Amino acid sequence: MLEGKVALITGASRGIGRAIAIEMARSKATVIINYLGSEDKAKEVKEIIEGFGGKAILAKFDVSNPEEVKNAVKDLEPQVPSIDILVNNAGITRDTLFLRMKEKDWEDVLRTNLFSAFYVTQAVLPYMLKNRWGRIINISSVVAFSGNVGQVNYATAKAGLIGFTKSLALELAGRNITVNAIAPGYIQTDMTEKLPDKVKEAFLKEIPLGRAGLPEEVAHVAVFLASDKASYITGTVIHVNGGLLRW
Ligand code: NAP
Repeated sequence: MLEGKVALITGASRGIGRAIAIEMARSKATVIINYLGSEDKAKEVKEIIEGFGGKAILAKFDVSNPEEVKNAVKDLEPQVPSIDILVNNAGITRDTLFLRMKEKDWEDVLRTNLFSAFYVTQAVLPYMLKNRWGRIINISSVVAFSGNVGQVNYATAKAGLIGFTKSLALELAGRNITVNAIAPGYIQTDMTEKLPDKVKEAFLKEIPLGRAGLPEEVAHVAVFLASDKASYITGTVIHVNGGLLRW
């Protein structure tokens, strides 16, 4: 389904990004696994992909650092003919009530979850413009729409990604590049594992499907959006949340 395409997935060493990398590789894309701190885990993802005959390249860089992003994408040039699919997935949380929120908690979350999309997309876009084909997928969150106590920084960043998605989709539509967002609900990863049990239980009670989602359940949507089957979808948000938020 993605044969001949190269996909860069940020934050692909763990969680949702890892699942997206594996599922895109299963669909025959060459996958660039970006990571920052989890080198062993990133290598493990590469091994899994190569284990089923897929192609994967490791790329360590900090998505929140514009110079690092530029240099890393340039360094990839000799290894890949182009970058056709970009998944802006890397993210962090620094949860705390707004009254206690330090400027650093605000800045780190905005830089890693939102500014990163600007840096990485700008670095990768020339490839897509040249090919007159591209897929940009931004991983937002249900909290962009619902808000959440303790997550003013995170919800702001994730809501920012929605405006980014919709506006960039308009600018790039004429170039045959689609830009969409996925808004996951409560998905089983390290990010949600560290939530207090009380918060987890409260979430589960609110989810009509009665369980947390799996990273693969987000990854399948990303594969679809990256494929030719999604050629008429742009500027939209797909919610993957077990019914947590209804429209
Ligand atoms: P996770 O398990 O904590 O994994 C986060 C990933 O992001 C890791 O691979 C990490 O890499 C990478 N990362 C963090 N900071 C980075 C940086 N500065 N540069 C490069 N990579 C960086 O998180 P997750 O749950 O899979 O979340 C993935 C995305 O989905 C995030 O954007 C998150 O906000 C969003 N999301 C998650 C949920 C959920 O319920 N889990 C719900 C809605 C939205 P290293 O470990 O190598 O540093």
